[in-house]
Amino acid sequence: MKLKVCGMKYHDNIKQVAALRPDYLGFIFFEDTPRHFDTKIPEISEDINKVGVFVNEDVNKIIEKVNEFKLDSIQLHGEESPYYCSILKSASRFHKAIEVIKVFSIKDKFNFEVLEAYEDVCDYFLFDTKGKLPGGNGYRFNWSVLNEYPSTKPFFLSGGIGLDHVEDIKLFKKNIASKYCCAIDVNSKFETEPGLKNVSILREFINKLNNKKTMNYNVDEKGYYGEFGGAFIPEMLYPNVEELRQNYLKIMAEPDFQKEFDQLLKDYVGRPSPLYYAKRLSDKYNTKIYLKREDLNHTGAHKINNTIGQILMAKRLGKTRIIAETGAGQHGVATATVCALMGLECIVYMGEIDIARQAPNVARMKMLGAKVVPALSGSRTLKDATNEAIRDWINNPVNTHYIIGSAIGPHPYPDMVTRFQAIISEEIKWQLKEQEGRENPDYVVACIGGGSNAAGTYYHYLHEPDVGIIAVEAAGLGVDSGESAATSVLGKEGIIHGCKTLLMQTNDGQITEPYSISAGLDYPGVGPMHAHLSKTGRAEFMSITDSDAMEAGLELSKLEGIIPAIETSHALAIFGQREFKKDDVVVVSLSGRGDKDLENYIEYFKI
Ligand SMILES: *Cc1c(COP(=O)(O)O)cnc(C)c1O
Repeated sequence: MKLKVCGMKYHDNIKQVAALRPDYLGFIFFEDTPRHFDTKIPEISEDINKVGVFVNEDVNKIIEKVNEFKLDSIQLHGEESPYYCSILKSASRFHKAIEVIKVFSIKDKFNFEVLEAYEDVCDYFLFDTKGKLPGGNGYRFNWSVLNEYPSTKPFFLSGGIGLDHVEDIKLFKKNIASKYCCAIDVNSKFETEPGLKNVSILREFINKLNNKKTMNYNVDEKGYYGEFGGAFIPEMLYPNVEELRQNYLKIMAEPDFQKEFDQLLKDYVGRPSPLYYAKRLSDKYNTKIYLKREDLNHTGAHKINNTIGQILMAKRLGKTRIIAETGAGQHGVATATVCALMGLECIVYMGEIDIARQAPNVARMKMLGAKVVPALSGSRTLKDATNEAIRDWINNPVNTHYIIGSAIGPHPYPDMVTRFQAIISEEIKWQLKEQEGRENPDYVVACIGGGSNAAGTYYHYLHEPDVGIIAVEAAGLGVDSGESAATSVLGKEGIIHGCKTLLMQTNDGQITEPYSISAGLDYPGVGPMHAHLSKTGRAEFMSITDSDAMEAGLELSKLEGIIPAIETSHALAIFGQREFKKDDVVVVSLSGRGDKDLENYIEYFKI
């Protein structure tokens, strides 16, 4: 069944709705309505039939509009006579073979005899609700009246149709007499104000009508993103994880929680972080690049958004002791910071090797009052630190909260972390609206270690099909070199840190040591949300080598005066690898600043 969306009015909204590929878009030229169309129709797909809606209008005026707006159909909503329709049908043929849709209004009954005179002078009938206005009354008529439909001319069903009516429409279609119903016409029930359509509700309607289950990119009730996620944890960890699962959404919804979270993000972290139009970088790559400046947050990266959220969560759960694990030390520092802020005990597990490699961050954590405990087993790196942290949590289930630093771990961690980081895309929406006049960019881009800055950057765009999602992984020395962290390319399904996701592993399931020049991307898995985005094709995954990332970091420094973290440099390197259109708006998450990586840059470039 076809779909017509009527009463379009605003430029951007027309483009957004057109992206959903309805069969018809209706523009109302009748002046006495708040949906009166008085601007230009933007470039939209040729496949969409443009319908001009008129009420007892002068024939010549209609022809004028048909030519001016390249209308494909006209819909007549007044008392137009069969003769009037016939002139229009033949007259309009000179210019373009347009279709004529004649509207009839129905309440509880209808005299079908009036249709006969119109049979040969129009292409479709449209049945609408009889009300005060010629259309747009917002309620339904009694559809069973159409059981008596005597004609074989295809008709549109209209009048107050909303998301709730999908089942009724399906029932109606089963009715024999309704087999001539060729299209559904919707309008006011999908509006946030007259003429402005709510794109996400419209999308849901279309999916339901087509029996398409709306692809969901958020976590479901069981903790899964498609086939990924869940909580694969030792029995002894169950009480802790379950306590969190039962409470996290409730706590996050409390006004008191939200107030404290917002306040700290503003006064302590320094949010909103700017959305900066990078002019010189844009000129170089001939597209419009915006940088979301998470590097300007307190402690220099996005990680603090999550640790602030989790420390407030821990307090609400009555916890007095915080544990965390860290590899490069960034998450350890962000955790130690919020523990100092709240006066809570903080223990950070860190591989012995990493402690030696990351001395400045170890010093920071100590200054902030945290206890850094070396993990002495295995390869003495991140995964061993994680094992130690889990062991600690099992032994201290009552008073301890484990702050995980990325969108990974057992449910509800990936979702909780994503929601705390979602402030990133929440801000992008209004900031882009201010600067570009629209909330949706053409692309959002982020680098992925576990995937927390990416999850936050994508969150409010996951279900906006006109927004492309680009995920950037570390290719290390090259995807085929054996020294990389390109999980979406090399990963297979498996379980890591309590969730089912894509991870790099040997044929017998041993986790492979990942490699990247950037410590924050040096992770053998990706969060389950990203595994799902990869598997469903919703996100485009790219992998960037060490050397391309380093060059991109140097380039941003020289072009914009911003030294990015090496993780972030991976996201920036895509401009050298992939073309964008000149007027594409591309928002890149500038996840962190490069101060921590200075030594790496110095060594690499022999500065
Ligand atoms: C930790 C870190 C990352 C990677 O972590 P995600 O959870 O994937 O966001 C990226 N950039 C910076 C600056 C980081 O500190």
